[in-house]
Amino acid sequence: MARRMLIAGNWKMNGLRQSLGFFEEIRTLVEPGYAVDVLVAPPATLVQAAAQASNGIFIAGQDCHVAESGAHTGDISAAMLKDAGATHVIVGHSERRSDHGERSETVRQKAEAAQSAGLVPIICVGEQEEDRRAGRHTDVVGEQLDASNPGNGDFIIAYEPVWAIGTGLTASVRDIAAMHEFIRGRVAGGASRQILYGGSVKPDNAAEILDLDDVDGALVGGASLKASDFAAIISAA
Ligand code: PGA
Repeated sequence: MARRMLIAGNWKMNGLRQSLGFFEEIRTLVEPGYAVDVLVAPPATLVQAAAQASNGIFIAGQDCHVAESGAHTGDISAAMLKDAGATHVIVGHSERRSDHGERSETVRQKAEAAQSAGLVPIICVGEQEEDRRAGRHTDVVGEQLDASNPGNGDFIIAYEPVWAIGTGLTASVRDIAAMHEFIRGRVAGGASRQILYGGSVKPDNAAEILDLDDVDGALVGGASLKASDFAAIISAA
């Protein structure tokens, strides 16, 4: 089965209602009939409105709780995201792992909760800068990958080297190609599994990254906030 290309934008903690004009802008900037899937993960407050304004763009949550409901003040369940119109949810983003101490075991439970609610989890993995300097990046990513994914069912992997997120640094195409090949060989259902790259993907580097055989799309942070930049990345895919 040929793998589809997915360009996913992660707005992180950015966006107010006025940001929803983004979806109309994208529609005018990207040629109709483009051959890739497009997704935006707005903050939770905008999921419902974004789903209504999205014009065929998939909408994702940025995180979900492991439980379906209950006494968890401030948390949001996968079922709530689904109810608001989301189709996907990002889990295990490195900012969740670092800001909230999320471990891979929890990430796997979140991915399973997402699947049970009918959402496709986008599971993030990636090494720290010191891991890469010490040459243990493959081991670290392999361990995260094994512990964070549910093993079967629908899920997407996003490889995001932590040192490349929001820094303007990207991994070299050679390093990206090597890590994606490694992930594809290791993850369940590897041949048909979508594997995205994330970490300072911009209009000027998107084409060479997206051209790699084992790269099935991008998870874009900063450059997904401006419709013209995001549209340029979609067009590069
Ligand atoms: P960035 O973020 O594109 O701003 O580096 C990527 C991400 O965190 O998903």
